[in-house]
Amino acid sequence: MTPQSILPIKEALRKAVIFTLRTIIQCTLYLYEKCTDLVTAIDRRFTGLFAKTEYVRTGKCEMTGQCCKAIGIEFPASWQKHPTLVKWLIRWHKLRYNFEQIGLNQNLLVYQCNYLGADNKCAIQRFKPKLCRDFPEQPWRGKIRLHKGCGYKYIPRATAEFKIKLHQRKNSLL
Ligand code: SF4
Repeated sequence: MTPQSILPIKEALRKAVIFTLRTIIQCTLYLYEKCTDLVTAIDRRFTGLFAKTEYVRTGKCEMTGQCCKAIGIEFPASWQKHPTLVKWLIRWHKLRYNFEQIGLNQNLLVYQCNYLGADNKCAIQRFKPKLCRDFPEQPWRGKIRLHKGCGYKYIPRATAEFKIKLHQRKNSLL
C-alpha cells in the first residue's frame, strides 16, 4: 500500500469517528435538554403567576432559513485574550451542533448550520437542539433581535392585550 492510498482510508475513518461521537453527544444532550424543558416550563408557569413578559411574541416560522445561516453565539469577552480557548469552543460547536464557523466579531461567533437543506428545511427537525427549539426566545424583559424578513415579531404586551380585547368584543357582537 502506498502512502497516497492510505490517505482516503484515514480520512474516511476520521469522518466515521466524528460522526459516531457527534451522534452519541447529540442523543445524550437531546434527552437531557428534554428533561430541562419540563423544569423550564414549570418554572415559567409559576413565574407567570406573578410577572408578565414585556413583549408578546407573535407570528410563525416562514422558513427563510436565515436564523440557521447566521447563528450568533456569544462567549465571555475575557476569552478574546485566549484564542486557543475560542478555537476549542468552535470545535465543540462543530461537534455538538454541526455548526460551521463563518465569522467572528469581538466575542460573537457566527455560524451556519450543516443540517440546513437547500430547501431551507432542517434535516433533524424532530430532534433539533434546544438552542433551535427555543428560538426566538420570549424573555421576561426586552426582546430578541430578529433577522430581516423573519416571520416572528414582538408586540408590546399592552398593544397585544388591547388587540385581543378588541377581537373578543367584535366576536361577541356578531
Ligand atoms: S439544527 Fe436545524 S433548526 Fe437548528 S440551526 Fe440547524 S438547520 Fe436550523
